[in-house]
Amino acid sequence: MAHFELLARCPTTRARVSRLTLAHGATMLPTFMPVATQAAIKGLTPQQVESLGVTLILNNTYHLNLRPGIKVLSEAGGAHKFQGWNKNLLTDSGGFQLVSLSKFTTITEEGALFESPFTGEPTMLTPEESISIQHAIGADIIMQLDDVVPSLTQDRARVEEAMERSVRWLDRCITHHNLSGKRATQNLFAIVQGGLDLELRDRCVTQMVQRKNDVAGFAIGGLSGGEEKDVFWRIVKQCIDKLPEDRPRYCMGIGFAEGSYIIQSNLLVCVALGVDMADCVFPTRTARFGVALTHNGPINLRLAKYARDFEPIDSSCPCPTCVEGSSRAMLHHIIGRETAAAQGRSLLVSVTIHNIVFQARIMGGARDAIMGGTFPTYLRQFFSNYFGDVGYPEWCVNALRSVNVDLLEGSDIKVVSGKGAKWEYSTAA
Ligand SMILES: [Zn+2]
Repeated sequence: MAHFELLARCPTTRARVSRLTLAHGATMLPTFMPVATQAAIKGLTPQQVESLGVTLILNNTYHLNLRPGIKVLSEAGGAHKFQGWNKNLLTDSGGFQLVSLSKFTTITEEGALFESPFTGEPTMLTPEESISIQHAIGADIIMQLDDVVPSLTQDRARVEEAMERSVRWLDRCITHHNLSGKRATQNLFAIVQGGLDLELRDRCVTQMVQRKNDVAGFAIGGLSGGEEKDVFWRIVKQCIDKLPEDRPRYCMGIGFAEGSYIIQSNLLVCVALGVDMADCVFPTRTARFGVALTHNGPINLRLAKYARDFEPIDSSCPCPTCVEGSSRAMLHHIIGRETAAAQGRSLLVSVTIHNIVFQARIMGGARDAIMGGTFPTYLRQFFSNYFGDVGYPEWCVNALRSVNVDLLEGSDIKVVSGKGAKWEYSTAA
């Protein structure tokens, strides 16, 4: 079973630091998990990822189930061995991607009925089957199958049905998991649903917390589907306020769909609200477009202005790309050769490494600040550096005010509403 120790609480916000010890070692929280869709993180070896200090990654069950497939994974002894990854691993239930990627999906009480990508035949993913697949993968954290509806769905009856069904499916996952004998090494997380409806969310949290003894952690699902950010953070805050202190809280798919250039602020706002874990495709996905993260916002290395910029991405960054002195100009230069030959370290790898380290530093800095009692100052500093030129997103100001941090106090940085800040990334990618 997972061992969860609370190490420090921020006296001002709801942020906290904890240590989550799983079968493949300890992970300090809050953390973000890079997403390794097809087992590996694109362009990086597992050893490289590990050397960057990452101790927990997310694999997609749907993709692993397609390739290499469960039979191969079972023969290999699980996804850790298959991909040579020695640290912790979390898998999703496969349900979300099934619904978003399959030609058709019908949700019944039994499970999700979809068209098999292999045979075209109707195939059923039940809660039990999802858990069995995740057992074969061998992830340290496994997720319940839930009934996911798009967050912008107007049909309240459908949202309510999906929420209640997610509770019933949690029970089936718990029973199946507990009977499997895998509980010693694999840990089941529940997923709170209920759409954008505060009352439904409340009912879901209440019911799921009653199952606390059978779950190792709680996730907040069904968000980041294009809803207003001011709605997003209120749902997160309300759920967190009612979740038990002694279990990790995972906010799923932050910045999955929308303006992900604001992802850094998403992560830190969530930490301030009390989130311990978040997954994030942004640092790796955006690297493919030549976008590097810096404390002053993202920069797009494809732009001509970087052809004569001989500074590293970030001179204070300890990542191999910056330490070895790769200049922005050099990185800009190799973009053109990218498709021709993948010789040496490609732009993708160089920027991916930098972005993962950048994100890890942001979270490491947050943990240090929470431990040292200076998290509100850390937040203010990060936001003023990152948004100084483009303005604070209004929802961040509102969300942080709800946990007693006022970004505008003693600041002359403007506030922008709606999608907010625009960097060069948002126009070029
Ligand atoms: Zn760097």
